[in-house]
Amino acid sequence: MNAELARIERVGGSLCLDFVNTRTSHFDPAAREYLAGYVDLLEWLRGCDDGLGARTATQLAAVARAHPRRAAAVFARARELRDLLQRVFAARAEGRAPTPADLDALNREAAAALAHRRLEPGAHWHWRWDDDDALERPLWQVLASAVELLQHGEPARLKQCPAPDGCGWLFHDGSKNQTRRWCSMRMCGNGAKVRRFQQRKRDAGG
Ligand SMILES: [Zn+2]
Repeated sequence: MNAELARIERVGGSLCLDFVNTRTSHFDPAAREYLAGYVDLLEWLRGCDDGLGARTATQLAAVARAHPRRAAAVFARARELRDLLQRVFAARAEGRAPTPADLDALNREAAAALAHRRLEPGAHWHWRWDDDDALERPLWQVLASAVELLQHGEPARLKQCPAPDGCGWLFHDGSKNQTRRWCSMRMCGNGAKVRRFQQRKRDAGG
């Protein structure tokens, strides 16, 4: 596994937001990417609670090895999807609607992804995906998560780690009083505290 990937924090509270947060910052033009290629995408998704099972991940890795060019094309689409979702959720966190172009793109992507769901009967019926060998499977899962969050997530709990001290990561604030401000204290909150402390010291002439 690549070293960046092993360090990544999943603090978004949902699969689609954790996917959006796969670069170190949304504000810093020199931000680093955590996912370098399709196999990283699989590894990352395997590490998510509602991500990929080990068997499917291994199977898809084999398909990717057999079709490297197709896997690279899917990974390029995944990057575009990541940027699209970043814009859509950042707008929503600010109480804005997405641009018409982004809404169109999201509609196209979501409709195509969700067309691969099949109802599976059982004590409780559930959705499954129609094709375990499709390289697009990670994109479908991310899109299903995004649709779910847009439909059922509480808008006031969708937040963005704030500029200038924060990183722009998006997260669902599940705290009781909705007081969460940072993606995580370790990554952004502590740095902001230190900077505020130093500023106060400077202001006090200390
Ligand atoms: Zn942050």
